[in-house]
Amino acid sequence: MILLQQQFSLKQFNTFGIETFAEYFTELHSANDINEIATLPYKKYILGGGSNILLCTNINGIVIHNAIKGITITKEDTKYVWLNVMAGEIWHDLVLYTIDKGWGGLENLALIPGTVGAAPIQNIGAYGAEVKNVIDSVCCWHWEEKKWITLSNSDCHFGYRDSIFKNSLKDKTLVCSVVFKLKKQPDFNITYNILGNELKNRAIKELSVKAIADAVIHIRTQKLPNPKEIGNAGSFFKNPTIALSQYIALQKQFSDIPHYPIDTDHVKIPAGWLIEQCGFKGYITGHTGVHKNQALVLVNYGNATGYEIIELAEKICSTIKNKFGILLEMEVQVWK
Ligand SMILES: Cc1cc2nc3c(=O)[nH]c(=O)nc-3n(C[C@H](O)[C@H](O)[C@H](O)COP(=O)(O)OP(=O)(O)OC[C@H]3O[C@@H](n4cnc5c(N)ncnc54)[C@H](O)[C@@H]3O)c2cc1C
Repeated sequence: MILLQQQFSLKQFNTFGIETFAEYFTELHSANDINEIATLPYKKYILGGGSNILLCTNINGIVIHNAIKGITITKEDTKYVWLNVMAGEIWHDLVLYTIDKGWGGLENLALIPGTVGAAPIQNIGAYGAEVKNVIDSVCCWHWEEKKWITLSNSDCHFGYRDSIFKNSLKDKTLVCSVVFKLKKQPDFNITYNILGNELKNRAIKELSVKAIADAVIHIRTQKLPNPKEIGNAGSFFKNPTIALSQYIALQKQFSDIPHYPIDTDHVKIPAGWLIEQCGFKGYITGHTGVHKNQALVLVNYGNATGYEIIELAEKICSTIKNKFGILLEMEVQVWK
């Protein structure tokens, strides 16, 4: 039986450290709990580690903190292992578990905060890897249809920090478990410059998933602000994709504008560079600001409200639109 708490503070449940209250709050510990919650007549908000949300108001409805645990091998052959992982498992714990076994696929994604259930939502990615490359299927409860559905990898319509869960299934499902297909004889993805250089510096004799994860953990620890020390949700904006023709025009004005080719007609521009060019790196206003070393990270200096952070985000967006003609999109999910 689930425990329903009323007027529950969410401050400890979001990495921005913002205080708002949930009308109702409960923790999910088993898939059976979902049947009970499904009958409740409240709007439902699913919460994992709270590392990709921005809380703006009190929540009218029920916040469901997913804490369902469990990792099982469902299938294996000589090349692959299929792991069924419950949504409440901590993402980095799963990465460490697979590394301990020597299985390949999650090593570049070490130390990303949050839960397994949230990983497919925005198709988490880092250091040249995306979780879509190792997701076999996602099992969800559909609130409106009141039934379990299993989506294959292609059903999930994964894109850059995007999936069906942010589009046609937005707020309609609860991810209960994810099946990952991992390699028993890993091949290594070290094309991402910073990672490749870190591994070179370490003079690794034999590359392994552990060596890669160790390098990723080292880089991340040095580069990214720790939410336990300063409230943040990682990258606040996505890196924008623009037409090649727009990039060529911008290059005439800003000769050092960095870019990564996407296809023959499009390039991606690092949002952090755009923010830095507009003078926002290290900018502070009221209780919020842009991190001094990471222009892509907006921070809460202690008592910021979600709306203050939104106001800063909007200021950044309109400055960049005016200067570069590029519209930034938020990566963080706003709850308001
Ligand atoms: C310091 C820092 C670094 C980060 N680095 C990266 C990075 O390198 N790459 C990257 O991709 N992200 C990064 N992030 C963002 C974040 O860690 C990921 O998006 C992560 O997957 C969010 O997990 P979570 O459990 O905290 O989700 P939450 O923040 O709790 O939820 C995020 C969204 O997913 C929904 N959701 C969560 N769980 C479920 C579920 N079981 N079913 C249905 N919907 C659900 C929520 O309703 C919400 O809309 C970073 C964040 C921080 C704070």
